[in-house]
Amino acid sequence: MTKLIKLSERLTTIARQVPKGSRVADIGSDHALLPCYLVQNGQAVHAIAGEVNDGPLEAARKQVREEKLEAFIDVRGGDGLAVIQPGEVDVITIAGMGGSLIVKILSADPSKLQGVQRLVLQPNVGEDTVRTWLLQENWLLIDEHLLEEDGKFYEVLVAIRHVEAEEQNEALYANNPLESFGIAVSREQLIWMGPYLLAQRNDAFASKWSSEKNKFERIIQTMQQSQAPEAKEKEQAFGALVKQIEEVLQCMQKDRP
Ligand code: SAM
Repeated sequence: MTKLIKLSERLTTIARQVPKGSRVADIGSDHALLPCYLVQNGQAVHAIAGEVNDGPLEAARKQVREEKLEAFIDVRGGDGLAVIQPGEVDVITIAGMGGSLIVKILSADPSKLQGVQRLVLQPNVGEDTVRTWLLQENWLLIDEHLLEEDGKFYEVLVAIRHVEAEEQNEALYANNPLESFGIAVSREQLIWMGPYLLAQRNDAFASKWSSEKNKFERIIQTMQQSQAPEAKEKEQAFGALVKQIEEVLQCMQKDRP
């Protein structure tokens, strides 16, 4: 029996979102650990590991060779979705880069998304940018995961094609997960914090938003010492965000038995 590649918790969380028997493209694959694991585990019948940079491209080739998976994984050099043909894959995974870059890659050539049924995206920052793009492009957000690993927080967003994507996304972003606490939640806040993540409110979620709150409070302190004309405005904007975070964290204290 093949020994499965060992993945980090972050990559394992991403891998779990790939349905068995998929044809997968992992864009920005670096070491190609994810496609190797997916093939070994029977989740991918075929995979493409895409890489724009020579070093990671070579690392991907080496990994695939070492795992003897050349018959199942094509390692291809190129920018974003340039490495796939329309209709070639069912699932695209993009992990470990900023949300703006993920959106840039997904937007560059819409024809490449033909036939793609599922996107599994793990932005390191700018998760709201990714949610906004998914909404605009009528990808139905079906799940989100938030985990903490080695002192960093990672969000994994899962979206699918769906005939009722627009209506169901509208319902998702109109729902208020904090209604029972009597707290209003705007669409912007849901896009910022994640509609499923705000509903789940796990421990990693509490840690992430406590840490963001501390960061914003430090920015507010700096703004209070600044003479710049825009400082007051920024102080108020960050103050409003801190208030939203505090409300959520207070709900989480009430959640506890
Ligand atoms: N996806 C892997 C993971 O999550 O562990 C690797 C993440 S690594 C931090 C980001 C990778 O994306 C790098 O190897 C980089 O070369 C690649 N990359 C950045 N921009 C890209 C693009 N436009 N097209 C393809 N790959 C890209």
